[in-house]
Amino acid sequence: MAWDFASEPEFEAQLQWMRSFIDRELIPLEPILDHLPASEWLVVKRHLQDQVKAQGLWGAFLDPKLGGNGLGQLKLALMSEIIGRCMYSMAIFGVQAPDSGNMELLAHGATDTQKERWLWPNMRGEISSAFALTEPFLAGADPTVIGTTATTDGEEWVLEGHKWFITNASVADIVLVFAETNPDGRPHRHASVFVVPAGTPGMEIVRDIGTMAHPDPEYGRVGNHAEIVFRNCRIPADHLIGQPGEGFTLAQQRLGGGRIHHAMRWLGQAQRSLDIMGERAVSRTSHGKLLAQHQMVQDYVALSHMEIQAARLLTFHTAWKMDKYGAAAVRADLGMVKAHVSKVVLAVLDRTIQVCGALGYSSDLPVEAWYRSTRFGPIGDGPDELHKSVLARTLLKGYTPVEGWPSEHIPSRRPAAEAKWAELKTMAGVG
Ligand SMILES: Cc1cc2nc3c(=O)[nH]c(=O)nc-3n(C[C@H](O)[C@H](O)[C@H](O)COP(=O)(O)OP(=O)(O)OC[C@H]3O[C@@H](n4cnc5c(N)ncnc54)[C@H](O)[C@@H]3O)c2cc1C
Repeated sequence: MAWDFASEPEFEAQLQWMRSFIDRELIPLEPILDHLPASEWLVVKRHLQDQVKAQGLWGAFLDPKLGGNGLGQLKLALMSEIIGRCMYSMAIFGVQAPDSGNMELLAHGATDTQKERWLWPNMRGEISSAFALTEPFLAGADPTVIGTTATTDGEEWVLEGHKWFITNASVADIVLVFAETNPDGRPHRHASVFVVPAGTPGMEIVRDIGTMAHPDPEYGRVGNHAEIVFRNCRIPADHLIGQPGEGFTLAQQRLGGGRIHHAMRWLGQAQRSLDIMGERAVSRTSHGKLLAQHQMVQDYVALSHMEIQAARLLTFHTAWKMDKYGAAAVRADLGMVKAHVSKVVLAVLDRTIQVCGALGYSSDLPVEAWYRSTRFGPIGDGPDELHKSVLARTLLKGYTPVEGWPSEHIPSRRPAAEAKWAELKTMAGVG
């Protein structure tokens, strides 16, 4: 019997270290973290990152042959759940999107020289990166159609196009740009990925876009999402990652395990939200009873716990399957995890806001901000509809059409049932 829901003692000790580190060093800072002086935070952040590095837990998500510590997806899922309790921890543990995905991409596609220049410094936290795929005038859900182009001119690539929602582009040292190089290769071998260093002439960061999470973003802050225009933006030939036309395959490298980590971080947030709901429910009285004694509130608590637990198991199982059979075997599962968990976390956050009433709606509690930032979940990284559609198509491949009645049609099954009954009676010596 190979099923086991316990971690080895050594790994459990690491998880325990993570829990207490985040509880001790990061969660207490939350009320002021967004307003700390950037230069001082940079130094303190490095100090905290050094402690994570000393535990061997920094950037743990990379494949071992690419510099990571080979924990596998299941362990990373457990770690991600802890990190999700405080989203600021992502930067401290080196799993901050989009850097984490970009490192995966560079690890798979970059040459040794390119790795020296961009991957290892990114991994060490010395430089930061952004990934530019989505465009304002074409559906981001469909990367087989891209308006941004890259053409060669002598020893240079020339980029023309328009991108938006590019996380951290206004602060990143490099932007990995997804552009069409091989129109004949549509749908999956048409694009390539280029590294465009910050400040390259022709790459104009137009603005940071206001969002539900930050309606009035201050330009140039980490976590903002930029609009970028490329006009005659020239980069050297060696800034192409991989071969022309490999962009789609490389971009897929960013997404695999990332969806599991994302999902588990959301579940960490959902659990913390449920804890807020529970504490409020046992603390406040309405109509002569604690909120916790009202059955509808009990329903919110029970449903939230059931949904979180079911989503955890779904995600752990997918992580386990990925470790055992590889990324290709779990393609549809990863989409299922993403589409399912993004709904669960929002439902739990919403119930917490409800149970906390006006306080829940207010910014005196962190839940409304979590709700606003997590609302991107069903949209980002491919909308949930797309993942469900892939899942459905995968499942439907397992079915064969029948002529006439469905195979479960009861009247049609009756003759076979009677024959079986006669056979069993004979064998049992009845009648
Ligand atoms: C906070 C945030 C950060 C982001 N960061 C980045 C980043 O760093 N880099 C980057 O390149 N992009 C980024 N994005 C963009 C993100 O990847 C896109 O928003 C996402 O891929 C969806 O593309 P779209 O917004 O163009 O929506 P569209 O493609 O226009 O889709 C809109 C809606 O149409 C429906 N739909 C679309 N296709 C289908 C389908 N096949 N079946 C059924 N329904 C469908 C869905 O309801 C979908 O939500 C970010 C977005 C957000 C919100």
